[in-house]
Amino acid sequence: MNIPELIAHVRKIVIKIGSSTLEDSTGAVNNAFLEHFAAEVANFIKKNKQIVIVSSGAQIAGLSILGKWARKQDLHYKQALCAVGQVELMRAWSQAFAPHGIHTAQILLTRDDFGDSLRTLNMRNTLFTLIDEGIVPIINENDSVAVDEIKIGDNDTLAARSAVLWSAELLILFSDIDGLYDKNPKEFPDAQLLCEVPDIGSIRKQIRIGGTNIFGTGGIATKLDAAELVVPYGIPMILSNGSRPDALGALNAGTQAGTIFKALF
Ligand code: ADP
Repeated sequence: MNIPELIAHVRKIVIKIGSSTLEDSTGAVNNAFLEHFAAEVANFIKKNKQIVIVSSGAQIAGLSILGKWARKQDLHYKQALCAVGQVELMRAWSQAFAPHGIHTAQILLTRDDFGDSLRTLNMRNTLFTLIDEGIVPIINENDSVAVDEIKIGDNDTLAARSAVLWSAELLILFSDIDGLYDKNPKEFPDAQLLCEVPDIGSIRKQIRIGGTNIFGTGGIATKLDAAELVVPYGIPMILSNGSRPDALGALNAGTQAGTIFKALF
């Protein structure tokens, strides 16, 4: 099954957008990207698909308002920055969806939320209710309360856990690369894109994993972790490049490459 066939085949999709995708060249939230992306999500919803977004970017949005905090390393400043930035991030998202008559909802989670059966039930019910009402839930880690001990740590894993929780049928991770390569394409120009990964365990042994970028906390390793989390639940994952504002439509049209991590059943 290729990417357009896979997308055509499913209804419930979780889409994760990485910090590198959300940031423009000046270091602010890339509003032009959000507007295009929201238009594509609106198109998907018109076609009867259900979308949950996992969005990074609170820190970037915070710095676009409080740039003078850029050098503050103190944990409380970082958490305060995310508190400021989360509001700005959600403002950007709700503005992007407004022309399509679509409301957005903010859900902030920590690792503890996934370990507590009552909370997971509540989260599931909230997600189902929002989706039933045509609202687009936008999930992020609750960075203002999450210290290392209760952190999920990266939004790839958060997206994967959310996909499992909501019983999604597909997880799409948008990053700043076209997919999984046999080695880091930024270091090795001859790196080969892998279009399909049937077995994550064996691919880990075959590829070389490089470092990450300045804002990206995950790197490619957490994308493999995310795939490993969802595929046993029958949820396939696509890793693709979110740099183009029409990335979602291009994936759907088959004009953009990506890596499919095949579901186990
Ligand atoms: P995001 O912020 O979008 O989540 P990250 O920067 O955390 O993305 O991770 C993606 C980066 O991982 C790519 O830009 C790439 O440079 C790096 N990388 C390292 N090894 C690989 C590999 N084998 N295949 C693809 N990307 C890789």
